[in-house]
Amino acid sequence: MASATERTSAESNGGATAATISVENPATGELITTVPVLGAGDLHTLAARGRAAQPGWSELGFEERGRVLRRAQKWMLDNADRIISVVVSESGKTHEDAQLADLGYTVAALGFWAKEAAGYLADERVPSWNNPVAAGKKLVIRYAPIGLVGVIGPWNYPIANSFGDCIPALAAGNSVLLKPSEVTPLSSLLMEEMLLECGAPEGVFQVATGDGGTGAALIEQVDCVMFTGSNKTGKTVLKAAAEQMIPCYLELGGKDPMIVCADADIERAANAAAFYGLNNGGQVCISVERVYVEEPVYDRFVDAVTENVRRLRQGAPAGVGTVDVGAVTFPPQIEIVDAHVQDAVQKGAKVLTGGRRRPGAGRFYEPTVLVDVDHSMKIMQDETFGPTLPIMRVADAEEGVRLANDSVYGLQASVWTSDTERGEALARRIEAGVVCVNDAQINYTALNLPMGGWKASGLGTRHGAQGIRKYTKVQSLLVTKRALKREPFMFPYRARRTMLLRRFFKLFYGRGSRD
Ligand code: NDP
Repeated sequence: MASATERTSAESNGGATAATISVENPATGELITTVPVLGAGDLHTLAARGRAAQPGWSELGFEERGRVLRRAQKWMLDNADRIISVVVSESGKTHEDAQLADLGYTVAALGFWAKEAAGYLADERVPSWNNPVAAGKKLVIRYAPIGLVGVIGPWNYPIANSFGDCIPALAAGNSVLLKPSEVTPLSSLLMEEMLLECGAPEGVFQVATGDGGTGAALIEQVDCVMFTGSNKTGKTVLKAAAEQMIPCYLELGGKDPMIVCADADIERAANAAAFYGLNNGGQVCISVERVYVEEPVYDRFVDAVTENVRRLRQGAPAGVGTVDVGAVTFPPQIEIVDAHVQDAVQKGAKVLTGGRRRPGAGRFYEPTVLVDVDHSMKIMQDETFGPTLPIMRVADAEEGVRLANDSVYGLQASVWTSDTERGEALARRIEAGVVCVNDAQINYTALNLPMGGWKASGLGTRHGAQGIRKYTKVQSLLVTKRALKREPFMFPYRARRTMLLRRFFKLFYGRGSRD
């Protein structure tokens, strides 16, 4: 069946060829296919379809919607090879990176929201006794679907970070319009095919391929926007959402610090630094982007990380287990990575391994370890989003915490120590939405644990109760069953009743001692 994008683009253009985007394989440079660039008129058509489908989808209820999501979960497992090969072809990442996050996260999320949506969105009764005027009334909080949700996604996890945010929106009873990154649209089109095959009514989930203009046009059509991407675009999206007066949630960039204490398990910490810094080619919003190591274990840690990173195999993924670090997905990103490394080297940093583009075909940056770095360097301040690991020596964890907080970002962080009580105490002093002790990134798989950025890293959270309630309109119900013919505060105002009410307030709120 033709995708919503194909049909809409053909209709709007009266059969004429619309503008297109070429989708290329970053690991080989080969052209895979082209997709249409949808404009404002197309988005209007898609939105009308989505709005028409939404009430029926909502009325199906949690159980029936959950059934569709569970079927999709099975579909993904049955079609794992095809899904992974599409993700790998348009992103240039390894099969393992695609499997762990784009497949693994998404199958978990489909099951999680299918099961938990009803509980998170169940009506809530709240007590009425805390104000005598409302006492005795029935008070209910209800979470109604917001309507048409717009999701705008990045290129680093073409399924997990784009379709992943659509799942709770769908489970809540909304229709969804997804605008994937122009670099990686094919994975999202596959998700559209999947949901149709699994019984989602037409129009409930539609993909709008295109560029930044398509994203801007989407915001004009939807009731709520969930954006994942860079800070720069995030600010533009927030302004556009403000024009429409719609809720806007932003999952933006990060510069996640890792603090390694002298009493840490150095072997595990070094393995983790290499993995959580360089998995998915370092193109992870919650990548370890900078490391601070206490003086006594600095040399041992640096040696262990460098040895680990030197062993990594890089190249075009030819199947499972063939390479460890894949390509740079987005063409301009390799310039940013190289600029950060060059800036650091010019200011005195030493490259222990890597530090350059990989010669030959495809777009690769060599896995890189840097030392003698400091906070005057871009690589310690700006998001690099590549396979780099700058390591800095610190006198103690106190200095580590101070430097960790010396950042505009506050997405995630990690502390490594055998004293987990101390680790937790340090974690609470780090300005980040998530802090792990003796771990990193893995919190993302705990779908009942909120994940979201502080400071310049975002607004709102995904996962947990807020991860689905954000796609709803809160409706409060107050129901009065038995009541006086006339409440004491109603017209006509009479001095006696007014003063009686005042005495009542004093009796109710005036008790208890206070300073
Ligand atoms: P961008 O901000 O460049 O793009 C994100 C999305 O926004 C793309 O679909 C893009 O379309 C679209 N877009 C561009 N301009 C507009 C506009 N004016 N209005 C609406 N939409 C627009 O981010 P990247 O794709 O480069 O992704 C990398 C960034 O994402 C990194 O900073 C990373 O840290 C962040 N990220 C954050 C995560 C988190 O959870 N906090 C998770 C993953 C990534 P197009 O591609 O066609 O330009």
